[in-house]
Amino acid sequence: MRCPRDGQKLESENFCGVIIDSCSYCDGTWLDMGELGRIVGVNKDILGGEPVKPKDLKDRPPGQSLLCPRCGDVKMDPVYYSGKKKVIIDKCLACEGIWLDTEELKFVIRAAYEAGGGAY
Ligand SMILES: [Zn+2]
Ligand SMILES: [Zn+2]
Repeated sequence: MRCPRDGQKLESENFCGVIIDSCSYCDGTWLDMGELGRIVGVNKDILGGEPVKPKDLKDRPPGQSLLCPRCGDVKMDPVYYSGKKKVIIDKCLACEGIWLDTEELKFVIRAAYEAGGGAY
């Protein structure tokens, strides 16, 4: 698979016992369906799921609507990781994989722990 931001090849990496695909160029991470939940120790990848408000998107890197690296021509949608914490990640609604930009994996893990290890 290739990075949806810069087209570099994604490399497999063991993260907390889960094999993830990451880009060594921009430090982004691709997670297949279920992998994020395994990393943070909950049985759901996404907590929350309401549509993202435009004002919450303004701090994100430009060039939105990334294409899913697994599906190829499917655009990913920004979604809130959690209803309480405004962490926004890109999700492919077709394969349910998730793209996390450089710092977002950390934010997501922190949000999950702050939410009490999964209790939404
Ligand atoms: Zn990249
Ligand atoms: Zn996909």
